[in-house]
Amino acid sequence: MENFVEAIARKRDNLELTRSEIDGFVSGAVSGTVPDEQLAAMLMAICIRSMTAAETSMLVDSMLQWGERWRIGEQFPDAVDKHSTGGVGDSVSLVFAPLVRACGIPVVMMAGAGLGHTQGTLDKLNAIPGFTTAGNRADAVARLSSCGVVFARQSGELSPADKKLYLLRDTTGTVPSLPLITASIMSKKLAVGAARLVLDVKQGAGGFCKTAAMARELARGLHDVGERAGVAVRTLISDMEEPLGDRLGTASEVLASLEILRGAGDARLRDMTVELAVDALVLAGRKADEARAELLARVADGSALRAWESIVTAHGGNPDDALLARPVRTAVAVATRSGFVTAVAAETLGWIAVALGAGRRFQGDEIDFAAGVTVHARIGDRVEQGQPVATLELGAREVDLDREVARAAGAFTVGDEVPPVRPLIRERLGVR
Ligand code: URA
Repeated sequence: MENFVEAIARKRDNLELTRSEIDGFVSGAVSGTVPDEQLAAMLMAICIRSMTAAETSMLVDSMLQWGERWRIGEQFPDAVDKHSTGGVGDSVSLVFAPLVRACGIPVVMMAGAGLGHTQGTLDKLNAIPGFTTAGNRADAVARLSSCGVVFARQSGELSPADKKLYLLRDTTGTVPSLPLITASIMSKKLAVGAARLVLDVKQGAGGFCKTAAMARELARGLHDVGERAGVAVRTLISDMEEPLGDRLGTASEVLASLEILRGAGDARLRDMTVELAVDALVLAGRKADEARAELLARVADGSALRAWESIVTAHGGNPDDALLARPVRTAVAVATRSGFVTAVAAETLGWIAVALGAGRRFQGDEIDFAAGVTVHARIGDRVEQGQPVATLELGAREVDLDREVARAAGAFTVGDEVPPVRPLIRERLGVR
């Protein structure tokens, strides 16, 4: 690549990038020959100008060329992968893996760190003492063989381009771009190479797709890239107008997941997980209704919880939840008036969780596993003035607590009318 600034300027001016410019971007990211400021400028130009379908597909392909392809589906043809486009209070992966495994289906999942205002599965898993994700194929195969599940991470060998760009996007405000999200997710999925894939596209204030049109475009784009690569895909679009579960954080989301596996916990988080798990079982040939009943039975008989314990142990972790970090102090945000909750600014709550320590403010920032937010009021709930709507949980990080408490209280809009009920699952693609 002659001069990468020219490529940045062309994207800034809304021109279509060539294959060689896209290859220069990706190879420069992996090899370090394009400096971070130029990569970040290109990411921002893509975020603002977007990409054509042809450019997006070249970006996926180029990212895939760098790094290994594990071709997990050749050795484990039944293994299913699952990915969400990122939301708030979305601990689904931690419940999905043991639940689907308890139904006899191997699960392979590439866990990402927190992105923007969302908390990442990788950071949540790292909150479990001793837990290490697989960074190479041999490790992934060993874990799949021993416990039927592997949580992997981007590494120098697997998805190195996404590893670099993901961290840069997280701290440069360049996450909400459909082509960048598509390339990030699908380059990882195809690099791992499971033959079956379940996708959850989040739509609403707490996700990266704020509108139905954006969510549909992203869902279609992800789904089509998967199908073109020969993967059996089920994609759904789900509600992210408010946090999915009631906990935002790392250790606290592990605890929220354990509650579901023990047969209790947040109903929306449970229902969402079960719906995605139904899709995984349908891809394995089961009927949807039978799959739903089987999944609930695996929670009730304790086998999903036992699967979780064996997954944690196989990843070097200690499944004793007493060892998870707990907040050292808390502060409560209260309703500013009486009425019905009509909106919950999930993205604001996500950023508050990041500010408290559940996410990174800059590259290399430390996660504080004790930090998080617990949400007490949902859209449609009746609240009285002064009633707690959220608890802010703090660890060691210094924060302007008064500011964050005020922001949390302001995240809940209270009105006089009961708002309409929204379905959790908005649409399903790939259902024939
Ligand atoms: N999940 C990813 O892996 N990448 C994105 O860009 C968004 C969600």
